[in-house]
Amino acid sequence: MAFIHNNGGNNLDIYFGECIKCWKYNVLMKYLIVGAGLSGAVLAERIASKLGASVTVIEKRDHIGGNCYDYVDTETGIRLSKYGPHLFHTNNQVVWDYVNSFVTWTRWEHKVLASVDGKYVPMPVCGTTINELCGTRLRDSDEVAGWLRANQVVYTTVQNSEEMAKSRIGTVLYEKLVKEYTFKQWGATAG
Ligand SMILES: Cc1cc2nc3c(=O)[nH]c(=O)nc-3n(C[C@H](O)[C@H](O)[C@H](O)COP(=O)(O)OP(=O)(O)OC[C@H]3O[C@@H](n4cnc5c(N)ncnc54)[C@H](O)[C@@H]3O)c2cc1C
Repeated sequence: MAFIHNNGGNNLDIYFGECIKCWKYNVLMKYLIVGAGLSGAVLAERIASKLGASVTVIEKRDHIGGNCYDYVDTETGIRLSKYGPHLFHTNNQVVWDYVNSFVTWTRWEHKVLASVDGKYVPMPVCGTTINELCGTRLRDSDEVAGWLRANQVVYTTVQNSEEMAKSRIGTVLYEKLVKEYTFKQWGATAG
């Protein structure tokens, strides 16, 4: 398993894998962060660069980035997302500026087709998705909006992700598109 000790004067050490002994005896360590995913990595960077404090990050995988990790496949030269595709969205200028201080972006066009009931259907849900999966013949956005209104489940207070999905796309599309996907990723149907 990889082991990286990176303290280039920025108070930030990252240990991968079985490195418990190393950080245990790091007497200068002030903060210990478990996991080098987005949360851990951002916190570690902020603590090291803003507070100037010593941070140690331990990560059980052999890479940083958590579930957002990607890499270039040596055979094809194609960038792959190891744990499933990740898209970056923000409307927050501070977040955008922060991320851009570390990376440059590669333009990417994202088109998703989900395989459901033996058919490939567009995601997120649109009129074509509904027509393919529900046997309807919706022709325009007004008819799609009408279908959604008639199928959305109304809750006084939405309690979890299942209810949120049903309140937007209704029970049938929740069962076909969201339930299994959620279970596959997180081992639970609602959170
Ligand atoms: C298939 C898929 C698609 C997604 N798509 C998007 C998307 O398009 N856009 C988006 O914003 N979000 C997306 N997400 C969500 C996104 O992945 C998470 O919000 C994000 O990764 C959370 O970061 P995190 O640091 O909290 O956790 P994680 O990314 O899970 O990182 C946690 C890290 O901690 C490490 N760790 C855990 N326990 C220990 C331990 N005991 N010792 C050492 N290390 C440990 C793990 O190995 C991991 O590297 C998607 C998630 C999945 C699964």
